[in-house]
Amino acid sequence: MSSIKSFALSLSSCLLVLSAALLPVTLLPAPAMAQEPPAVRTGIEEVAATVGSKAGVQALRRAATARASSRAVELLSRYVRIDTVNPPGNESRGAHFLASVLEESGINARVFESRPGRGNVYARLRGDGSRRPVILLSHIDVVPADPGQWSVPPFEAVVKDGSLYGRGVLDCKGITTIQLLAMLALKESGTTLSRDIIFLATADEETGGRLGAAWMLDNHYDLLGDAEFVLNEGGFIHRDPGKPVVFKLGVAEKSPCWFRVTATGEPGHGSRPAAETAVTRLVDALAKLTAREKKIEVGPVVAGYYAAYAALDEERARQYRQLERSLESVEFRDWFMADPAAAALVTNTVAPTMLEASVKTNIIPATATAQVDSRLLPGHDCVSFLSELRQAVGGPNVRIEPILSFASTQSPMNNELTEAVERVAATMDERAIVLPALLGGFTDSHYFREKGIHAYGMVPLETSPEERSTLHGPDERISVSSLQDAVGRMVKLLLELGG
Ligand SMILES: [Zn+2]
Repeated sequence: MSSIKSFALSLSSCLLVLSAALLPVTLLPAPAMAQEPPAVRTGIEEVAATVGSKAGVQALRRAATARASSRAVELLSRYVRIDTVNPPGNESRGAHFLASVLEESGINARVFESRPGRGNVYARLRGDGSRRPVILLSHIDVVPADPGQWSVPPFEAVVKDGSLYGRGVLDCKGITTIQLLAMLALKESGTTLSRDIIFLATADEETGGRLGAAWMLDNHYDLLGDAEFVLNEGGFIHRDPGKPVVFKLGVAEKSPCWFRVTATGEPGHGSRPAAETAVTRLVDALAKLTAREKKIEVGPVVAGYYAAYAALDEERARQYRQLERSLESVEFRDWFMADPAAAALVTNTVAPTMLEASVKTNIIPATATAQVDSRLLPGHDCVSFLSELRQAVGGPNVRIEPILSFASTQSPMNNELTEAVERVAATMDERAIVLPALLGGFTDSHYFREKGIHAYGMVPLETSPEERSTLHGPDERISVSSLQDAVGRMVKLLLELGG
């Protein structure tokens, strides 16, 4: 039996003891805590006061955690049914819903709108102030869902075969639910941590976060700036049969350096083409950009990731443990770089994605443009990257201009937070591995890293490869039991971090 199962068992047995002795009915899953009579909570507080011992406090916390876990499906289902598809977002509906749940539990919550309808919700659970706060960050908006592609309606929160289906259950309404319930469990059990816990659910992440996380940091830095850590999306627990449990910890993200290439030339009739036209210049420029030899660079996060990953792949373990040196071997390099996801971890990528030129077959246009999605490794900046590209392909007829970029940043790989994650991982499986990861995509974490607040992708939710493949896709789903377990594990992580 894995230790997580015994943890869950100890929760339920504790639940039985307490409910038999003190709290008949109320610890059962069905009713939402918000609707329970106030007398129930008073009852729990009295237990805490009278017992007062460490074991008593722990029992109380386990009971509160079990109660919180039992609310997870109901709460997430209600949340999924609130339409926050971005665009347009309408996150204020979700923000007010989350705020009401916090308020019902005695936690003061505030909703801030960056624009009408674009709400962000903020709440703070006070600790003793001896250490700096941790922010539980998530976003309220979700990507659209095409009902025709789904086996169930995407916004009805249907439970099927032990899983809850709905847009956002993984990205990221389920994450919000786990964070929120962990906070309520701590509040209800009267636990005072050494750190404040800040709950922050924001708007607009799916289209860049300018009206959400960025706006909150720009306009309400006084509420957030004292934080030391952020726990955000960008890292789940992976459990594959026969393999150790893997805690993927997002410590860095590649940064976008999106740009436009504009080529110009003499316009004219398609029947009389000059040797070079706007279109041929654009095509040449793109061919050169994509054929450029890519410099391989193994940063500390990727080196750490593969060193840890070695435990999962005996055959390649030796090479993974010293990735930088292994990549000097042509044979290994060809094999490694053939996987685009792996190649992206060690190179700055360049992917032309949008093309625009003439509107008619027989018209040679004066300009032809391409938009290019480029992603840079930590430590690189878009300004110097683009000037390198201009040297390679620029000229009087080919212009390169930035569209979107931000600094590439990473969080430390050894501190109280990473140690806390390792301790939680060890309680789940003594062979558990914490994999520090460089994400190919980006989340709102970079806004915090830019302010010096160490952000990590870490949600202690067990996920399968099948579940993860539904992110942004059809049939997005979360296992009900994993969702419930994750609440307890999040409480545990917060205790490790601020106990
Ligand atoms: Zn997300």
